[in-house]
Amino acid sequence: MRGMIFRGAREVELAHFDDPTPGPGEAVIEMKASGMCGTDLHYYRHGMAASLEMLGLKDRIESDRIIGGHEPCGVVAALGPGVDSKAFRVGDRVMVFHYEGCRHCDHCRTGWTQLCDHGARIHGVLAHGGHADYMKVPVSSLVHLPQEMSFAGGAAVACGTGTAYGALLRLDISARDTLAVYGLGPVGLSVAQLAAAMGVEVFGVDISAARVARAKDFGVTHAIDATQSDPVAEILKLTGGKGASCAVECAGGELPRAQAVRSTKVWGRIALVAVGGNLVLDAMKDLIGKQRQLLGSFTFSEVDMKACASFIATRGIEVDRLFTDTWRLDQAAQAYAHFDQQAGGKGVFLF
Ligand SMILES: [Zn+2]
Ligand SMILES: [Zn+2]
Repeated sequence: MRGMIFRGAREVELAHFDDPTPGPGEAVIEMKASGMCGTDLHYYRHGMAASLEMLGLKDRIESDRIIGGHEPCGVVAALGPGVDSKAFRVGDRVMVFHYEGCRHCDHCRTGWTQLCDHGARIHGVLAHGGHADYMKVPVSSLVHLPQEMSFAGGAAVACGTGTAYGALLRLDISARDTLAVYGLGPVGLSVAQLAAAMGVEVFGVDISAARVARAKDFGVTHAIDATQSDPVAEILKLTGGKGASCAVECAGGELPRAQAVRSTKVWGRIALVAVGGNLVLDAMKDLIGKQRQLLGSFTFSEVDMKACASFIATRGIEVDRLFTDTWRLDQAAQAYAHFDQQAGGKGVFLF
């Protein structure tokens, strides 16, 4: 089969791998959609080894030729011995939860395998991922894809859209809330789309005019270009001087993080989602004196993944619109060169 490797220095390689065979409790998935994620750009630009060194995971990589892609979605092609046929059968449409844990610690038992006490096996990073014709995973990593959803939609839920749903759950958001979303890339747009479907009024902020222009199609009622006006002042104006009750920060960087906090009202709740970098606040003025609640929200659980897909299916949310580019796997070099510009929306490989 074919599999794509991030070689660093903006190079990818489409290599030949042996077709995987499932062992006990495992499944082989025939890939139908494999999403491209913002975090892939780190591997694309710096290579897997350098990226993992930065993340402190270098000693855990299983080979120097790991297949990338951590947003996999497809159909079950083969099952290993011991898999309960009531759980999964050949032909089932599935998403892959790309973190694999020990299955016994408290985090694994609650579906948060990325937090596994013994360290998670991250597919597409430490172990083979979805940019391939086939992918082998434990059956415990599979989540059924609702019939109403496309494979591309499943790939979105497998990382970015699931992360958005996870942040909204952490904020315990409801139709009583107003929400400021900083960063209108695929995760921020998913936050907006899901929150709007929950009845929340959404304000969106970005520094790209193209992303600001697109935001209205994703349920953002007021989209603010932060290069043209001060987003905090704009959001205060839109909320009668009070601020939004919640904010989700998906842009990354010190400035938008501080702005997200300052866009909320007294008792505001803020979820930080974008990874890396710092946050600088005045503890008294920005947090304590305003009774604000600041949360770090890292991805989502397997249970949330299922709930997210079900919410999308039952509400008819058009997650497929997140994808501006679809590619074949043999176009991987072109696909990542285009994605590297970070000007459009999300890309996905379809099989
Ligand atoms: Zn991702
Ligand atoms: Zn565990």
